[in-house]
Amino acid sequence: MTGFESMWAALEPIGRHARTGGYRRYAWTGEDANLREWFAAEAQARGMELTLDRAGNQWAWWGDPDAEPGVVTGSHLDSVPDGGAFDGPLGVVSALAAVDALRGQGFVPSRPIGVVNFGDEEGARFGVACAGSRILTGALAADRAAGLRDGDGVTMAEAVRAAGLDPERLGRDEEALRRVSSFVELHVEQGRALVDLGRAVAVGSSIWPHGRWRLDLNGEANHAGTTRLADRDDPMLRLAEVVLAARREAGAHDCVATVGKVRVEPNGVNAIPSAVSAWLDARGPRERAVRAVAAAVGAAGGGTITEESFTADTAFDAALVTRLAAILDGAPVLGTGAGHDAGILAAAGVPAAMLFVRNPTGVSHSPAEYAEPQDCLAGVSALTAALVELTG
Ligand SMILES: [Zn+2]
Repeated sequence: MTGFESMWAALEPIGRHARTGGYRRYAWTGEDANLREWFAAEAQARGMELTLDRAGNQWAWWGDPDAEPGVVTGSHLDSVPDGGAFDGPLGVVSALAAVDALRGQGFVPSRPIGVVNFGDEEGARFGVACAGSRILTGALAADRAAGLRDGDGVTMAEAVRAAGLDPERLGRDEEALRRVSSFVELHVEQGRALVDLGRAVAVGSSIWPHGRWRLDLNGEANHAGTTRLADRDDPMLRLAEVVLAARREAGAHDCVATVGKVRVEPNGVNAIPSAVSAWLDARGPRERAVRAVAAAVGAAGGGTITEESFTADTAFDAALVTRLAAILDGAPVLGTGAGHDAGILAAAGVPAAMLFVRNPTGVSHSPAEYAEPQDCLAGVSALTAALVELTG
């Protein structure tokens, strides 16, 4: 087995659900602890110094970033509910494999190289995507983060403490940020652009503006058999309006919009619901259009719509993008509708870029997400070349 394959095999069973085959790797859970332990062991096996920032993100360093800021690569290891194996882990495993390749070549970097494992990228448990990088940069305030609750009512502060960290330390980490001169995140493509282009690797140019909103639709709980239709106040009907409006408004504004999560009270087959909460995810190339979609969907629900997170349009570092595309044999340059930690760092002023690896199914956030072994290795080669370019 290559180093890549053995790392992949070690990660494979962690958090994999037996029935669905999908991954359930949520922030600050036992699965997350196993993933962090794996990362720490990989850092140690390479003699890389492991540091933890104030947001709980793990950094493995080759060289001393306090002497001179380093070039960082890496991604995240957590997943969405029943997610695929590649979204996140491909970037972390490829980063470690690139370090191995550089060392195998006897390469001596002119500045430190770091590999990062960002925590809670998907926001599957506490509802805020890229929580680890947002706390690191201060884009998510520490007190707000600490108070976020999961579906069981557990706060992030409680979850962080249960995982053995001090929630009082959560917050923007100047020291950790100072160590980063630039960031290149490799990621599986979450679409089919590379399939259509017949290329294995692309350079990411920008991340669309995107946001998450919550709608709380209230009604009156009652008996499903004895309550006349005319007497009902059923919030599930307004949910239907909301879902249809999301599709219609997204189409009208050249965006995408999804209602992918709902919570129903009391959630009984024979009970008219008393309350329905629904979450809207909307994205598009233009912020005004995305906000217009959210406003129209809120209006369709007949009530208020609460913004849980919003990330403005993020252009990656133009010079870095051009440089990477040039050394990668004129690799295609693509924008994306998916949020990433690289976007959060870029918004905080860190020169950042991404590499995307072809996904033949075009499917992501699902067990169908995939990358061919030879494309994974092409990704490692591209990332290795990028690190040589930036630290040579
Ligand atoms: Zn990801």
